[in-house]
Amino acid sequence: MKKHLNITVSLMLIILCTVFASACDYGEASQHRGEIYALDTLITVTAYGEKGDEGIAAAKSEIRRLEKLLSVTDENSDIFRINASKGEAVEVSSETYELIEKAISISVLTEGKFEPTVFPIVKLWGFTDKNYRVPEEIEIKNALSNVNCENITLLGENRVKVPEGTQLDLGAVAKGYIGDMSAIAMEKAGVESGIISLGGNVKLMGENPQNDSWNVGVNHPEDGVAFCKVKAEEGSIVTSGAYQRNFVFQGVTYHHIINPETGYPAESDIESVTVVTQDGSLADGLSTALYVGGSEYAAELRKSQSDFEYIILTKNNELIISQALKGKTELLEGYENIKITYR
Ligand code: ADP
Ligand code: MG
Repeated sequence: MKKHLNITVSLMLIILCTVFASACDYGEASQHRGEIYALDTLITVTAYGEKGDEGIAAAKSEIRRLEKLLSVTDENSDIFRINASKGEAVEVSSETYELIEKAISISVLTEGKFEPTVFPIVKLWGFTDKNYRVPEEIEIKNALSNVNCENITLLGENRVKVPEGTQLDLGAVAKGYIGDMSAIAMEKAGVESGIISLGGNVKLMGENPQNDSWNVGVNHPEDGVAFCKVKAEEGSIVTSGAYQRNFVFQGVTYHHIINPETGYPAESDIESVTVVTQDGSLADGLSTALYVGGSEYAAELRKSQSDFEYIILTKNNELIISQALKGKTELLEGYENIKITYR
């Protein structure tokens, strides 16, 4: 019989990345800010210029629109309909179709470390409805038999088919994708530069109005404040870490990033990993995959794939940073003693 366990839940919805920009730098009139609670996190939108308020409104409605399409729990979402399809083909929006295509390519790139069909496992652990529990081994084994990205068939014309039992979860790329799409919506509304910060995912749009690079702070997993900052241009900066969502049972902490090979929470040498790249969904998917794979894997992948950079804080409290970020990262006050290796 399945036992529902008495579990202490520590849910830390912290904003992992902070963008260093103060209102006074730009003048009161030109900086506009808005907040919205969506995707299980607090999202802040900053827009510069006279069309700022229109831009923020456009970004907010884009976030709501895409959340409705991509949610695993909303019964009317595209993803919910695919997951309930019992092997039948389902027609989805062009955005969902595009994101599934991207998810498959990231899964292929990372040899399944990022795995969009991981949903049956995520559900077993209770990460979907916050009904946390440690599943029996046999349950994990059974659920794993349905986890395989090759089970997804893209039929063209926005039609998707998965066999019964296979279910999708785009949670590890959705925020990155929605950041990019919201920036496009802001641009259409007349905004040229801004920041969309979605709990650990930062989308930088256009140029910093001061005509310098943006400075993004990476939060320390334990302290919840920025410990390091990175200079970045337009693009995405995404951080993944086990401390974002987890529960403790019998003294063991179980977290929400799953190793799709084992069906258990991933155990690597990484405490938190930040990925910098242009494409938001790639940044998001890679941050999850690198967390699963560990720092050696990150360096290996970076050798064959030159369009991303990373900042890894290891469980030994060391910082491993990809070579191209040398000179662009800086430890903040109080954290100067962290050892940095460039790789
Ligand atoms: P967050 O969404 O908390 O910022 P991630 O981007 O790393 O963190 O995504 C984690 C979410 O993605 C989990 O909550 C789960 O729904 C799903 N997931 C967990 N493990 C994997 C994995 N290996 N590949 C793809 N999706 C995953
Ligand atoms: Mg991710």
